Amino acid sequence: GQCITHCPTGALRERDDTDRVFDALADPEKIVVVQVAPAVRTAWGEPFGLPREKATAQRLVTALKGMGFDYVFDTDFSADLTIMEEGSELVEHLKHPEGVKFPMFTSCCPGWVRYCKARHPRFTDQLSTSKSPGQMFGAIAKSYYAELLGVDPHRIFCVEIMPCLAKKAEVDIPVLNDACGDPDVDVSLTVREVDRMIRAEHIDVFSLAETDFDQPLGTATGAGVIFGATGGVMEAALRSAYYLVTGENCDADAFKDVRGLDGWKEASFDIAGTTLRVAVASGLGNANRLLNALEAGEVSYDFVEIMACPGGCSGGGGLPIHDGEELAGVRGDVLWGLDRVAKLRRSHENPAIQAVYRDYLGAPLSERAEELLHTNQHAWKMPREA
Ligand code: SF4
Repeated sequence: GQCITHCPTGALRERDDTDRVFDALADPEKIVVVQVAPAVRTAWGEPFGLPREKATAQRLVTALKGMGFDYVFDTDFSADLTIMEEGSELVEHLKHPEGVKFPMFTSCCPGWVRYCKARHPRFTDQLSTSKSPGQMFGAIAKSYYAELLGVDPHRIFCVEIMPCLAKKAEVDIPVLNDACGDPDVDVSLTVREVDRMIRAEHIDVFSLAETDFDQPLGTATGAGVIFGATGGVMEAALRSAYYLVTGENCDADAFKDVRGLDGWKEASFDIAGTTLRVAVASGLGNANRLLNALEAGEVSYDFVEIMACPGGCSGGGGLPIHDGEELAGVRGDVLWGLDRVAKLRRSHENPAIQAVYRDYLGAPLSERAEELLHTNQHAWKMPREA
């Protein structure tokens, strides 16, 4: 996906879905729900010259409400949900290693999932079956949330705002329609598209007040926030895996060795007497090196996070572009800062997540959770395989 933005000849045009969203907003039958991904809050204000500390998620919520979105929610909420499912999957694998191939790979980055399926298909079996946070959100919006609202889920039009171009292909994967048969997410917008919508609506970003996300899909922990930075998914997963194994909370910073912008990081941690060897890679060149080393038997891990963009989603291909400037680091620092001051920093402590499990899903990896929140990574083919 990223190559489109970096096409040197400009011959490839980026897909623009803003008209589909404006049409949905104008349709009185539709309930238009939007979710905002973690990394979006680090960068949406850049083209307007809005200082980073002013370009908060809460000011973007106000802008989106001004455009007519009915409910504005936080993908950080469903990142917490992803952690509950993916962390439980990891713990299950560790408890019952018979027949399991290690490492388990994260699956929240569709750029990486596509790369794995196309270039290193022998690892497809080892991808977590957990859907990405954006897709989990869509499946919950058109099931649990439709029930809470008491509306036909077919009326819900689900938009996601992502730092990402690969997400546009992800929402089109035909098997990701588990809630009601319609696509779980209808449209994936990049931050560049949303910034264009803000301009088109003549919204003055400098005079926006702050508005909180709607509830209950707007409550998140620091663990959900750091999904947007390299190492964040790993760290969030380990904070909850530790709890799932020991029944106790670790220090929220116990796994901070996986932070930082190095393209390929390694660490090992002791969890209840078991040593867990992990690695984190960002950028597909680094991913390729790591996979080749795994294949050659030069390294071995239990759990690996891979994000296609250098620095993770804070370096995402759908964020504003500033020629020659690499901003993944400063943007990622915004997320680590939000985590540091968050009241709750572990996904399993999120009261909205606890409520979804109590009232709807039962438990992580339950039958309903499997149906809505997991996918078979072999169930769809890359376009050129079709
Ligand atoms: Fe998308 Fe890049 Fe984030 Fe992957 S790392 S989800 S390709 S923005």
